[in-house]
Amino acid sequence: MKTFDIIIIGAGAAGLFVAERATNKNKSTLVIDMGNTPARKVAISGGGKCNFTNLRADHKHYFGNNPDFTRGALARWTPTDTLNWVKSNHIKYHEKTPGQYFAESATDIVDMLLNNAKNAKFELNTTVHTVEKIDGKFIIKCNNNKTFATTKLIIATGGISYSNMGTSDIGYKIAKQFGHKIIPPRPGLCTIATKNFDSHLSGISLLVEITIGKEKILDTMLFTHFGIGGPAIYKTSVRNLEKGFTINLIPDTDVFNWLKTMKRTNGKKQIKTILATKLPDRVADFFANNNTSNIADWRDTELLNLTNKITKIRPDKFTLHNFQSAEVTSGGVDTAYISSKTMESKLCENLYFIGEVLDITGDLGGYNLQWAWASANAVEI
Ligand SMILES: Cc1cc2nc3c(=O)[nH]c(=O)nc-3n(C[C@H](O)[C@H](O)[C@H](O)COP(=O)(O)OP(=O)(O)OC[C@H]3O[C@@H](n4cnc5c(N)ncnc54)[C@H](O)[C@@H]3O)c2cc1C
Repeated sequence: MKTFDIIIIGAGAAGLFVAERATNKNKSTLVIDMGNTPARKVAISGGGKCNFTNLRADHKHYFGNNPDFTRGALARWTPTDTLNWVKSNHIKYHEKTPGQYFAESATDIVDMLLNNAKNAKFELNTTVHTVEKIDGKFIIKCNNNKTFATTKLIIATGGISYSNMGTSDIGYKIAKQFGHKIIPPRPGLCTIATKNFDSHLSGISLLVEITIGKEKILDTMLFTHFGIGGPAIYKTSVRNLEKGFTINLIPDTDVFNWLKTMKRTNGKKQIKTILATKLPDRVADFFANNNTSNIADWRDTELLNLTNKITKIRPDKFTLHNFQSAEVTSGGVDTAYISSKTMESKLCENLYFIGEVLDITGDLGGYNLQWAWASANAVEI
């Protein structure tokens, strides 16, 4: 049985970054991954351009039972540190929206990660099945009858979403085995299935305002065959939706007052024509609901009712859609018994959890990779 100073399960963003740090400190390091290539999610991230960080990354852009958990790691590896790291590796990048950084190609980031971790040994196409701790040593048993040992084990197995990339719940199983709680995993950064809209609206996108408790999100929403998607909904999907959310399809307008003004000034126009000045045609048709009367014939109470239908849409029965297509997994290993300073388990010495396997989910915009880097940086080598 081969023994290493450090074994990392998962050759994704977090696993490869910690492998770079471990080998820089001359630790014998093994990285095990079930896939035939490392960093498969990084390779497809940001639509092939890898949104590798965001200057706004602080605990307010992370979700989970305890977002404050991220504070220390994000302070010690800031988005500027990520930027400098990428720069020092001569990666070409650009700032797409203020503070949001993309590489020219995600492959460049993958190559950088692999090159920097080249002194680690890799066991690819190798699925970890079980981990045991015997006399202070972790014994890792894999599918192909291979067994490895280490005193320091780092779990970087990611989430269970986007499952066709090759994912597993081994990280959760190992955590449970050593006494950790798992916050039930759910799809994150994903579309939301709801019956509030017609499937014939599918393909239309528009600027909306979403209200979740006291928070407001102003971004683009896309109608899909089974519900709603687009950046506004992706952002909504990672937030706490226990108390639901509200969609306003005409933000920045006092819609009721506007409709009353239109009634006075454009009374002979049909409601559908009026709505189409602020909404895409098919969406205006949907809300006009085949009503062909002129706006002058609408009572104010009816206009108020219509206003509410457009500006206070409250999807009632909705589901996060779904593990296959979600970009991240919300939930995961509860951070309650993980050190926010070192990512070490407080229940099992020398066992570490980093990246998406933890109950930390970043917002849309480069926050999840920033968490992968920051949590990997926090591990004491
Ligand atoms: C389509 C898509 C686009 C994205 N775009 C962005 C973006 O632009 N910016 C951003 O910040 N985030 C983005 N993300 C999210 C980001 O990619 C992840 O949050 C990040 O890769 C998580 O890193 P990780 O190292 O924790 O896990 P991963 O990168 O998922 O790596 C986990 C690794 O563990 C391995 N593994 C799992 N189980 C086992 C086992 N039993 N045995 C051996 N190996 C195992 C897996 O094969 C995998 O390689 C995107 C995600 C997707 C799916």
